[in-house]
Amino acid sequence: MTGSDWQDAYAARMMRVFGTPLAHLVRGEGAHVWDAEGRRYLDFLAGIAVNALGYAHPVFVEAVSRQAATLTQVSNYFSTPPQLALAERLLRLTGAEAADGRAYFANSGTEAIEAGVKLARLTGRPRILALVNSFHGRTMGSLSVTGKQALREPFEPLLPGVEFIDSTVEALEAALGGDVAALIVEPIKGEAGVLPLPEGYLAAARELTARHGALLILDEIQTGAGRTGDWFAFQRAGIVPDAVALAKGIGGGMPLGALVAFGPAAELMGPGHHGSTFGGNPLATAVGDAVLAEIERADLVTNARRRGAQLTDVVLGLGSALVTGVRGAGLMLGVALAQPVAPAVVTAALGHGLIVNAANPETIRLVPPLTIGDEEIGEFGERFAEALRTVEAVIEEGDA
Ligand code: PLP
Repeated sequence: MTGSDWQDAYAARMMRVFGTPLAHLVRGEGAHVWDAEGRRYLDFLAGIAVNALGYAHPVFVEAVSRQAATLTQVSNYFSTPPQLALAERLLRLTGAEAADGRAYFANSGTEAIEAGVKLARLTGRPRILALVNSFHGRTMGSLSVTGKQALREPFEPLLPGVEFIDSTVEALEAALGGDVAALIVEPIKGEAGVLPLPEGYLAAARELTARHGALLILDEIQTGAGRTGDWFAFQRAGIVPDAVALAKGIGGGMPLGALVAFGPAAELMGPGHHGSTFGGNPLATAVGDAVLAEIERADLVTNARRRGAQLTDVVLGLGSALVTGVRGAGLMLGVALAQPVAPAVVTAALGHGLIVNAANPETIRLVPPLTIGDEEIGEFGERFAEALRTVEAVIEEGDA
């Protein structure tokens, strides 16, 4: 399908939950994708911080092919080697192994959070704290702890007992008490505009939640699996959470989510408390295990840190009056703009063969594959500069 054909088909057949798609993509390789008309794009969105190894990576392709030819779905009445291998790897990488941790497997980020919300409920305490402007997913439990009123409103009433607090230690201190089950936080609020928590917040949150006997549940769905230049962002803060929700990058493009719980929190769930037909299936877990093994082998965590610094220098070095700064960590970056023109920058970038995303009207989000090197960063610099110049020219015309 080319031209307006796919647009017509999309408009007629797809439920209207998303905006008009930016392009009709047919193929990907490395950090590039191609549309139906053969146009090539450098993709610095990577399936929204998912495709850690890029597209069609030989390790990913081999793992999918091998496991598809071996065993794909058996239900949780059975155990399989890939499931246990991935559990072992995740427990080791998160440090949960040393804390008698346990893994629960799901198929998406929102499902990983649902498991975390259920974990919180199992404490028997009624209140759950979450942050203003947070994003934890679209299913009803995850939506209940998502701090964006506009997303929640059409679906109220949601879960009772959830309170949204500002991202300050003072607000947390004021809200905590013996009736709080858990605090759920993202180390860097991705959907809100790549907004890191204040320095020292996670360490203080760990100390305060422990003092009140509340769980600290981290949403590392976007920040996890090496993206921020650490395996998990909480490790940079030097803390051990009670649970961490994972998805996106741990599957490298295969739908896969997980909740890893540490210590006593790992014992809260018992038989019958939770489950999923597909969760932990051998296909998804084999691919997840292969993706994480490749991130380890190629040391893509270090690459994320190094390339993130390089990318920041490139963006700031463009000298665009539109760019006021770069925030984030590793390869999870937000380019702050002087005006609310991020959607226009996205459109202009697409026209120059570059895929980026508007995390909010004043922020361009960059979450490329963790495999990027000098070549991709050089190409990004050229295309992003062109996109910024296009938007600057439109602004100047408007001002004239
Ligand atoms: N939590 C965070 C921090 C996310 O960024 C997302 C998705 O963007 C989710 C949860 C929901 O994940 P999913 O879309 O896989 O359900």
